[in-house]
Amino acid sequence: MEDVELASKFEAMHLKNSIKRHFDEAEPSDGNGICIDCGEEIPEARLKIDPGFRRCIACQTRRERKRG
Ligand SMILES: [Zn+2]
Repeated sequence: MEDVELASKFEAMHLKNSIKRHFDEAEPSDGNGICIDCGEEIPEARLKIDPGFRRCIACQTRRERKRG
């Protein structure tokens, strides 16, 4: 029984994290397709996935790594 409780707790935590993460990445976009960190153009392929991206892949990856 304890395992089930723990699992659902973990699941809730994970869900919370992914929601938070989603909001974080969905900051309002300027819509200019320019990375706000390095000023490089954000690849069109990336914008197709989510036009709200404000960072290029390199900067986003760095950010996510930093955040752990
Ligand atoms: Zn960048």
